[in-house]
Amino acid sequence: MALLSIILPSYNEEANIANTAARLKEVLEGADIPYELLFVSDGSRDNTYEEIQKLSVEDHRIRGIQFSRNFGKEAAIFAGLQLAKGSCCVVMDCDLQHPPEVIPEMYRLWRQGYDIVEGVKSDRGQESGLHRFFANVFYGLMSRVMKMDMRDTSDFKLLDRRVMEVLTELTERNTFFRALTFWAGFSSITVSYEVQKRTLGESKWSFMGLIRYAVSNTTSFTTAPLQMVTVTGMVFILASVILGAQTLFNYFTHNAVEGFTTVILLILIVGGLLMLSMGVIGHYIARIYEEVKGRPRYIIAKDTLKEEQLHEKKTE
Ligand code: UDP
Ligand code: MG
Repeated sequence: MALLSIILPSYNEEANIANTAARLKEVLEGADIPYELLFVSDGSRDNTYEEIQKLSVEDHRIRGIQFSRNFGKEAAIFAGLQLAKGSCCVVMDCDLQHPPEVIPEMYRLWRQGYDIVEGVKSDRGQESGLHRFFANVFYGLMSRVMKMDMRDTSDFKLLDRRVMEVLTELTERNTFFRALTFWAGFSSITVSYEVQKRTLGESKWSFMGLIRYAVSNTTSFTTAPLQMVTVTGMVFILASVILGAQTLFNYFTHNAVEGFTTVILLILIVGGLLMLSMGVIGHYIARIYEEVKGRPRYIIAKDTLKEEQLHEKKTE
């Protein structure tokens, strides 16, 4: 049977590594699926990498790399896609919130010929009201842009080798993995799963972090905000023509009032909108600047596979 690579982005997850590896082993061996585990430690500052290293010495199916610093989950996923050797891969969180029991089903569907198996959340697990609200706004927007329902999608997916290659060949740096698999096309099918509670460690997302994630993903995928700037501009030009005509009419009929209310309001509104619009444009320019620099998406500082080879050489 074909090799399955499991890609596990992990950031300060020392408490989860051994447990997750054991659960995956149990499930995958139980289903007779040949696999490799690829832990991508995203610049963890705790013992995540050491934990992976320990496991990789005992089990050659386990490999880990350590980034030189925190590059973000997207970068970790892409490093995994580039290093995976399998004929297909599953990307999943390493905190077991994505239940491993679903993998054999994904693998079965892949063998039936599907290139992408999307894990879809049957419920969103436990989220606070505010989190849910912003998630809804963000996914509502993304769904409209992608012209498909993104609301319950997640980073839990199985990808065929061909899809992995398409994604790793993309030259852009600011990626949004979740949406890119839709963009790539291919034949896909969904499998629903229940988001598990995180039992060990804590969520790596702060509220501001999530907002940044949403803004960066929106701007990396759509230029709709830029178009919105133009549309708002046009609405205001229309309004100013009407208001201008009225003002001139008042002036010539000697009805011009001394009140400054309208003037102040207009300055405030127009000023605010201009600043906002410039901010939006600035955001895209920043994006262009980042892409143009062409820096690598991540830097690998350590790799259990390379260390092993080094060790073998030394002991030869
Ligand atoms: N993660 C990562 N880099 C980061 C933040 C998170 O690789 O900068 C990993 C993390 O270790 C976990 C997954 O991404 O495996 C999801 O993170 P988390 O569980 O904190 O997010 P949540 O499930 O709360 O959305
Ligand atoms: Mg989690």
